[in-house]
Amino acid sequence: AQHAYAALRDQPALATCGRRVTLMMNAGLMADLPSLVGSGAEGVGLYRTELQFLIRSTVPRRRAQAELYGRVMDAAKGQRVVFRTLDIGSDKVLPYLKPQDEPNPAMGWRAIRLGLDRRGVMRMQVQSLMRGANGRPLSVMFPMVAQFDEFRAARQIVLDEYAREQDLGHTVPESLEIGAMLETPSLAFAPDAFFELTDFLSIGGNDLKQFFFAADRENERVRRRYDTLNVSYLTFLGQIADRTATHGTPVSFCGEDAGRPVEAMALAAMGINTLSMRPASIGPVKHLIRRVSIEEARRVIDEARCSGAQSVRPAVMAWLADQGI
Ligand code: PEP
Ligand code: MG
Repeated sequence: AQHAYAALRDQPALATCGRRVTLMMNAGLMADLPSLVGSGAEGVGLYRTELQFLIRSTVPRRRAQAELYGRVMDAAKGQRVVFRTLDIGSDKVLPYLKPQDEPNPAMGWRAIRLGLDRRGVMRMQVQSLMRGANGRPLSVMFPMVAQFDEFRAARQIVLDEYAREQDLGHTVPESLEIGAMLETPSLAFAPDAFFELTDFLSIGGNDLKQFFFAADRENERVRRRYDTLNVSYLTFLGQIADRTATHGTPVSFCGEDAGRPVEAMALAAMGINTLSMRPASIGPVKHLIRRVSIEEARRVIDEARCSGAQSVRPAVMAWLADQGI
């Protein structure tokens, strides 16, 4: 099968109905980058910057950070890389950001919340990203945005740093995209102005699903209980896709579900046309998408949603089996 996937590497993820899905990869360490060529990914949809921080005992200095981000962009050879700012929580303890004893770290002082309270760290990371870009286009996104003001404040930090770099006579990125991860249900109901202001959105399905169902993503007792193809969840994702489409806001999905072929197909059917996943999943996801009609998949999903079923999975699997898939 690996062989068959390799043959698909340079083929587009084009469904039989003509719908084109963009498949990108997730990364977090320099060692992941060679997969960009090997997998046929169309860029890095999620670069988890905290991984580089977690493997060190002191905060990487600006120069080291900038060098690293620059090398990541070099390795991407002009393809888009979306850098996610630090997603540190009190479960991922850094010696230089004092650990807090929190009963629910996933819902605690993490990600953008910490970034806005410790602005020095955020500013340094943003400066490093700009210096690493060294005149190339730069995409930055913030994790765990729960309300509009958090995004506004973080975005302003990026704009301030851009102006400061310019004042210092440094080379600024040729273009700048500032986006948010949609990982909390609240953000899906943010004011229209949020959808207008953000340059793009990426759905962090791992967190979004755990908060949607109130089921800890790391708790084996509950984490498999709620199907990604659950009608409530798919309906919610469809509403997000529709809202972003109304505002012309590009939306992608970068949680683990994007790398599961049937789930990926369902996400595309709900209107999410860009998926970012671990590199090894690109082949299997592309293989399935090229064999099906996304439009028909949507009809099957909609019918199942109306039937009172809890999950559309049985209907989708039966439909695939009918086609010999
Ligand atoms: C997610 O929550 O889906 C996501 C991509 O981010 P992480 O898994 O790093 O929390
Ligand atoms: Mg997340």
